Amino acid sequence: MAEHEIFSQLSTYNHEQIVFCNDNATGLKAIIAIHNTVLGPGLGGTRVWNYNNEAEAINDVMRLSRGMTYKAAISGLNLGGAKAVIIGDASKIKTEALMRKFGKFVENLNGKYITAEDVNTTTKDMEYVNMETNHVVGLPESMGGGGDPSPVTAYGVYMGMKASAKQVFGNDSLSGKKIAVQGVGKVGGHLLEFLHKEGAQLFITDINAEILNHYASTLGATVVTGEEIYGLDVDVFAPCALGAILNETNIAKLKCSIVAGAANNQLADENIQGPALMKMGITYAPDFLINAGGLINVYQEHVGYNRETAYRKAEHIYDVTLEILKVSASQNIHTQKAAIDLAEKRISDISGVKSTY
Ligand code: NAD
Repeated sequence: MAEHEIFSQLSTYNHEQIVFCNDNATGLKAIIAIHNTVLGPGLGGTRVWNYNNEAEAINDVMRLSRGMTYKAAISGLNLGGAKAVIIGDASKIKTEALMRKFGKFVENLNGKYITAEDVNTTTKDMEYVNMETNHVVGLPESMGGGGDPSPVTAYGVYMGMKASAKQVFGNDSLSGKKIAVQGVGKVGGHLLEFLHKEGAQLFITDINAEILNHYASTLGATVVTGEEIYGLDVDVFAPCALGAILNETNIAKLKCSIVAGAANNQLADENIQGPALMKMGITYAPDFLINAGGLINVYQEHVGYNRETAYRKAEHIYDVTLEILKVSASQNIHTQKAAIDLAEKRISDISGVKSTY
């Protein structure tokens, strides 16, 4: 990528700052993208990924940091959006020294960026980062952190799903509803427990046979193949595994009334699949809104952790989802756009509040 293109990319989504971090001794090559700090410090995890080239890494960190801005804004948190990527093969490059050096770079930003775990980083890595900076969340409970955020994420998804049911079926009960869950890992598994408790009929798929057997025997879930999951005649489809699965081919198979799941960036292209789902009469609960429980949980860590408060805030996802679905229906705009508009409006409104001392 030519040098001048970086500034043109920064201006595309109005990013505030990009920090390139290099250290020959540890081999650290990291990029921290701070998208927007109107509402508060930019919070977002650190991903380790073996990108094909630097342009791909920059593109990823910019896209992800912008997503964090929207997630924080729509959740009513006083947080901005940021993200970091460390370039390289996680199984080869991660060392105590590299993670601590990265922590030094985070420290140098003086709290403008707060980091956390993400793909290919662990709680242990964050403990190393924490040796050099306090601007890190997602620490284990033994270190004063909030521990695993996935139960709170699952609770938020459950709330978003119930609000969608209220809008579509006239009441929010999921009792007797047929619900297909793709990916029954940390979030998907906790979601199944909530749904089972309410009496939903569960259909599940995963690439891990052991975990499928577990939920088939403990919750009576019906196991289907990875291909079958899309075309099931169900009320709700909950993607809880991978991003970008709502592409042209897969959405053509959908027979559900609602899509509501935990996976990040479910729409392959929000400007194409957002309107397409609407046209098909399928209600899509915006992913970054209903999966914000994890962010809500780590935000609580930032202000002083309290699990009850985290759950109470995640419960609010119900009201916001309902509001978004109503705006989508009344303004005839797809739900992802309605959610982004609301997030941008909050940032714009609060920037006005902050304009005087
Ligand atoms: P996880 O790794 O615990 O679970 C993912 C599950 O998906 C695993 O069981 C895995 O075997 C399965 N899977 C992988 N590929 C699959 C495929 N092709 N078909 C079917 N199943 C497949 O991850 P998680 O923490 O439960 O997160 C799930 C999703 O939710 C991810 O997209 C993640 O980014 C998103 N998310 C998670 C949190 C959180 O708090 N953990 C917060 C926000 C968003």
